[in-house]
Amino acid sequence: MSPVQIKVLEKKNLFIKWNDESESVISLEKLRKLCPCATCLTEREKQSKTYIPLLTDNSVKVANINEVGSYAISIVWKDGHSTGIYEYPYLKKLADQ
Ligand SMILES: [Zn+2]
Repeated sequence: MSPVQIKVLEKKNLFIKWNDESESVISLEKLRKLCPCATCLTEREKQSKTYIPLLTDNSVKVANINEVGSYAISIVWKDGHSTGIYEYPYLKKLADQ
């Protein structure tokens, strides 16, 4: 499964069209909150259940999206965070949550 089209909709959602014709829409806020990089994962593990993530405007805005091999994309956020590699199955899972 791989995307045939990826775009940011209204600066709020990531739209992905897959090669099986299905489509996924994931909010950028959700993507950033569930950033799969080691730093963010560790940060989330430390958090209690009552933790409220403080996201600045720039941390939920996309500066750039890059393809990583044929299995993932990396998202460069406007606040400079760029270490999250979002594998396609992970994106699909996020969209269904
Ligand atoms: Zn991260």
